[in-house]
Amino acid sequence: MKKTALITGSTSGIGLAIANNLAASGYNIIFNGLEANGEQIAAEVAQKHGIDYLFSPCNLLFTEQIETMVSQALAKFGKIDVLVNNAGIQFVSPVQDFPLDKWNQIIAINLTATFVLTKLCFPSMIENKFGRIVNIASAHGLVASEFKSAYIASKHGVVGFTKTIALEGAPHNITVNAICPGYVHTPIVENQIGDQMKAHGLSREEVIEKVMLSKQAIKSFIAIESIAQMAAYLISDNAATITGTAIPVDGGWTAQ
Ligand code: NAD
Repeated sequence: MKKTALITGSTSGIGLAIANNLAASGYNIIFNGLEANGEQIAAEVAQKHGIDYLFSPCNLLFTEQIETMVSQALAKFGKIDVLVNNAGIQFVSPVQDFPLDKWNQIIAINLTATFVLTKLCFPSMIENKFGRIVNIASAHGLVASEFKSAYIASKHGVVGFTKTIALEGAPHNITVNAICPGYVHTPIVENQIGDQMKAHGLSREEVIEKVMLSKQAIKSFIAIESIAQMAAYLISDNAATITGTAIPVDGGWTAQ
């Protein structure tokens, strides 16, 4: 029986790269994301790799929608072997101007949805005596930068949550790990360039060089496939005893 992976935010960026990688290895995929053409993106990946799929436009802000997505996935595939909590949003502002609704949205999508999905997928994983959970945190789950209070709080939260659930999953052959990327050039980063230009009063080139990549020892964006391959490794049999980690894939950012 084929394995099934639920990947949030998998109709764009890093999530889509992980979906493509796992589909190429024969996983059935539950796609999720807010992209208007999400169904089409999911269908194309599935057709390319000859896998079965489900697309859910579930908005992770709403717990009932998450519950519906998981119910639909379990009804169709009978089990969820792999959960990748990848969807995430960012907002950049000095704390004194940081809007409360942005704070609440970031915590809800980046952190609370990770909790809700883990809680909902755990019973199926325990029953099957197998589970792999990969949380896409960030270098900002390990260190801070100014003007990103909500994002950094949420990603530090994801790292702490990862460690806790690794302990709870261990007796059930469930591993839980976080990947902590540096800057990967995806839509979320493209949007940040504009925000950072405003916050720092810098040009586009200056933001990339002086703000984003300034913290990485290796001065280039992380390849999206590096993150997808790391996720695939953490899900593989070779990583069966790796759990509770927060692995930087960050060009040496957090070495400093
Ligand atoms: P992206 O913007 O390309 O993709 C984000 C995905 O999440 C999209 O599919 C979007 O529709 C989905 N999403 C956002 N809000 C949602 C909601 N409320 N409900 C359902 N889906 C929602 O971003 P990305 O760069 O691929 O980021 C993926 C993850 O990687 C995020 O958690 C991000 O914080 C993390 N990350 C990214 C970088 C980077 O440099 N790109 C670095 C470190 C960590």
